[in-house]
Amino acid sequence: MLGLYVHVPFCSAICNYCNFNRGLFDGDLKLRYVDALCAEIVRAGGAGGAGGVRQAADTIFFGGGTPSLLEPHEIARIIAACESVFDVAADREVSLEANPETVTRSRLAAFRDAGINRLSFGVQSFREDELRRLSRLHSADRARAAVAEARAAGFDNVSLDLMMWLPEQQVSHWLESVGEALALEPEHLSLYLLEVYPNAPLKEDMARAKWSQAPDDDAAAMYVAAMERLEQVGYEQYEISNVAKPGRRSRHNLKYWTDGEWLGFGCGAHSTQDGVRWKNISSTPEYIHQVGRGDSTAVDIRRLTPEERLGDALFTGLRLVDGIDVNAIQTRYGVDVWQRYGRELEPFIDAGCLRRDGASLRLTRKGMLLAHEVMTVFV
Ligand code: SF4
Repeated sequence: MLGLYVHVPFCSAICNYCNFNRGLFDGDLKLRYVDALCAEIVRAGGAGGAGGVRQAADTIFFGGGTPSLLEPHEIARIIAACESVFDVAADREVSLEANPETVTRSRLAAFRDAGINRLSFGVQSFREDELRRLSRLHSADRARAAVAEARAAGFDNVSLDLMMWLPEQQVSHWLESVGEALALEPEHLSLYLLEVYPNAPLKEDMARAKWSQAPDDDAAAMYVAAMERLEQVGYEQYEISNVAKPGRRSRHNLKYWTDGEWLGFGCGAHSTQDGVRWKNISSTPEYIHQVGRGDSTAVDIRRLTPEERLGDALFTGLRLVDGIDVNAIQTRYGVDVWQRYGRELEPFIDAGCLRRDGASLRLTRKGMLLAHEVMTVFV
């Protein structure tokens, strides 16, 4: 089944490290954007799949930006637009990315009434000094309160995003945040390594304030220690950066890693279906303009070659802890992974980065730290 992704490009302030497609919140622009989103969804769904049949979807994911800046009735309207043209499964997963400072208990209850059943909070850290360095608007207390408000509003599927390798962060600081997150008993956690982009304002902030990141070995220690601690208390790591309580894996994000199909709506959103990949125009005003004119918003439309599809399936599949099922790859792409890549993979297996178990090929935890190097074999 399809996953439906809805991009919301508005934020209350721009974080100094951010590399996403987003801009400052503008109430009037937002109203026009929601209209455009609904129109794009209805048009895309109306176009239908093969033979004009209504397409089935089982996940909707509101990502951003800060989707929790939309009003609950706007979220309800977008979900209704999806339902009007797609067969959205009854047991759907409908996720909303939320920043802690944008929610209250009543707002969360209204999001739930609107049809959201999974929340993903961008917490990043439970240390005030780290949050300030990242120019985040919320405090650690607000993050804790947001989770409590979500529980009170009836949410039983909550994910927290945390970031490691922050400026001035030591391994012990990081584990403090992991411990604080665990105390809130989220169903899911995403742990990301901070990437400081060359033109990110954070880079200048770091130079000016003489903040530095811990050595690489400490970053590796942060990752390994966190994963071990999470496993000890019942979380399953299922992807390089993601852990979940049993049965709480992100069904939407799994589509990206299991060779699935999804449609993205809104500016800058990506889609993949029937071996074709495309991206929507990035600029918010241009996107609204194009939808208003009834023109296509897609740019960079590309039919993937069988080689590219195979490379993608291997590349993304290796992100999963379960790894790649080489028999399934053989069936789907007619390629014997061992025969094709065996010689290049051998050194990684010898170095303990990759494990071959029957038909499965997967990264070890050590290999996850070197995932990019291993994956270059496939692309
Ligand atoms: S809230 Fe998220 S999307 Fe918005 S600026 Fe900060 S990091 Fe970027």
